[in-house]
Amino acid sequence: MKTLITAEEIANRIEELAREITAFYQGKALTAVVTLNGAMPFASDLLRKIRLPMYVDTLGVSSYVNNQSSGKIHVRSPLKLPVKERHVLLIDDILDTGCTLANTVAYLKDSGALSVRSCVLLDKETKRSPGGALSADWYAFRIPDVYVAGYGLDADEYYRNLPDIKIFS
Ligand code: 5GP
Ligand code: MG
Repeated sequence: MKTLITAEEIANRIEELAREITAFYQGKALTAVVTLNGAMPFASDLLRKIRLPMYVDTLGVSSYVNNQSSGKIHVRSPLKLPVKERHVLLIDDILDTGCTLANTVAYLKDSGALSVRSCVLLDKETKRSPGGALSADWYAFRIPDVYVAGYGLDADEYYRNLPDIKIFS
């Protein structure tokens, strides 16, 4: 597997993102919601660089692939904390068709969050599906339309623990 983004490049980019996010959420009641399982390594590194008081929660969802514009998600692992009256930063692994992100943002808004913004590790240059999110509020890297694994991303559940991001082929 060919390395696309090294661990060092990831660490450097996370420093920049964390500074932007810290500046943006000054004085706000912030909850970081980490999507399981893919965003765990990214969120772990990013959250430790954000210099703000915050709650951290996790959410496990999957989109209904055959019903993309319905806005429905299946919640496999629910939030543990209430999001009412709080600003939510959703941390996800990758934006592909955009359905998962759009549906998860809608779910968090419906749950009563004051605001929902998204930060993804990877923004893949693909054609978004109808109803899919076109972009995230923050992204670490934009990548071509290839299947990647490592740093949280899996291929058949393996490779999530790799320190860099590789093109899986
Ligand atoms: P979307 O709803 O945007 O199409 O899908 C996002 C989800 O698809 C991600 O959370 C991830 O699980 C999966 N996905 C999309 N592209 C890739 C990829 O290149 N590698 C891996 N491992 N998962 C991907
Ligand atoms: Mg995923």
